[in-house]
Amino acid sequence: MRPEVEIYDTTLRDGSQGEGINFSVMDKLRIAEKLDSFGVHYIEGGWPGSNPKDIEFFAEARRRKFKNALLAAFGSTRRKGVPVETDDQVRLLIEAETPVVTIYGKTWLLHVKEVLRATPDENIAMIADTVRFLKDNGRFVIYDAEHGFDGFKDDPEYAMATWQAAEKAGADIVVLCDTNGGSLPSEISRITAAAIARLGMPVGIHTHNDTGLGVANALAAVDAGAMQVQGTINGYGERTGNCNLTSVIPNLALKMGRKCMPDSAIRKLKEISQFVDEIANIRHDARQPWVGEAAFAHKGGTHVNAVQKLVSSYEHIDPARIGNSRRVLVSDLAGRSNIVMKAAELGFNITNDTPELKEILTRIKKLEHEGYEFEAAEGTLGLLIRKILKHEDPPFVIEGYHVSNRRDKANSVCQASVKVQVSGQFEHTIAEGDGPVNALDQALRAALVKFYPRLKTVRLADYKVRILNSGAGTGARTRVLIESTDGKENWATVGVHDNIIEASLQALSDSLEYRLLKR
Ligand SMILES: [Zn+2]
Repeated sequence: MRPEVEIYDTTLRDGSQGEGINFSVMDKLRIAEKLDSFGVHYIEGGWPGSNPKDIEFFAEARRRKFKNALLAAFGSTRRKGVPVETDDQVRLLIEAETPVVTIYGKTWLLHVKEVLRATPDENIAMIADTVRFLKDNGRFVIYDAEHGFDGFKDDPEYAMATWQAAEKAGADIVVLCDTNGGSLPSEISRITAAAIARLGMPVGIHTHNDTGLGVANALAAVDAGAMQVQGTINGYGERTGNCNLTSVIPNLALKMGRKCMPDSAIRKLKEISQFVDEIANIRHDARQPWVGEAAFAHKGGTHVNAVQKLVSSYEHIDPARIGNSRRVLVSDLAGRSNIVMKAAELGFNITNDTPELKEILTRIKKLEHEGYEFEAAEGTLGLLIRKILKHEDPPFVIEGYHVSNRRDKANSVCQASVKVQVSGQFEHTIAEGDGPVNALDQALRAALVKFYPRLKTVRLADYKVRILNSGAGTGARTRVLIESTDGKENWATVGVHDNIIEASLQALSDSLEYRLLKR
């Protein structure tokens, strides 16, 4: 498929300039490979002239095969007063051995005079010399017009002269950059159209999100005729970030109907968004448009009721098209429909007319009032629904437990003993752990494994503690959220108590019981 709009990813260069983002060479290679299999058209790998890490990245990247994307090295025009062939920064661009080189140059006279301290003609010569040199070296050249919009607003004729200099020197694309991120969609659209009317070469767009318009501005440019969009996964980038590719791609493809990436790639959008966050060690933003966990989550009772009847009633698009999914949240606001849908997710077949539904709802509301939180604890919720629907005995009963902690000089030792009962038989075990909860977990598991060997594979994946009424100091109520795994599936359970050990034991016990009931 020949794209109408090309996607140029700069997560590894502009994106890595975002606060809190620090990619190693290995991280960059993994992201580049993921972006390539996702199917973006260009991957800007870094700026070899600005740091040795990026030189190393390009040396490593040379040895790999990219099947969809063209790799681009980024740099600037030659320095003032230096012949292009002796400019070190330009030499490093050639040495990166990438098929594409992207250079930026000045559009705005203010920058030419005050920052570069060059004459307007000198700036134009710097652009032309560098583009020509890169073309002579066989590169596909993308010319990024820094401050393209601010420069044009200040002096349209001079701005146009810098772009025409790039064109005349052989640049393949000129990309207008809203570097300071302060332009409005109407300005972007007007200036992009003006550039396209005067230039013979294709025009692209590079926006920043300083006023929350990064994506909107890129779409406005495409509407005006731009054929390339530059941006970053999850909108990483300096200050408030770049144009977010995980929003702009589905808007282009699914809302504007522009061919940019195939549907099969767009279905991997959520996956790549999470992957890049994972590598950057950033928590995935639940409220991120399109790909966030909350993007298709329904909470208000009337919404859920409507979605149950007709999914399009409160959803702008089918979440599966970007690899996301619909979620129904159970909370204080929950109506009957939330519970019915949640119960179905957990494998219970109930309807709005099931007589126990009212009791389930009342129980959830009471527990939420006490501090329980079920939105992230489907294990405990599943057990609660099951207990009310089926009046059967639990698979085990904890008859008692004891936890002790002692310190020997620098060593702190925790010991727990647990007594459980399974259909009339008792088992008493003792275990040690790094802390009281760990010791309790070990002892409880050791006791139950004798009756239920399949619990052997279960382990704690995450343990979170939240103090609910912090005003009460050490007497505060504690909520413990536990995530467990058996290597194949994860599930979460919750416990609430004034005593952190009790709260933890509730969540631990629910975790094991839920695993047993799931088969
Ligand atoms: Zn930028």
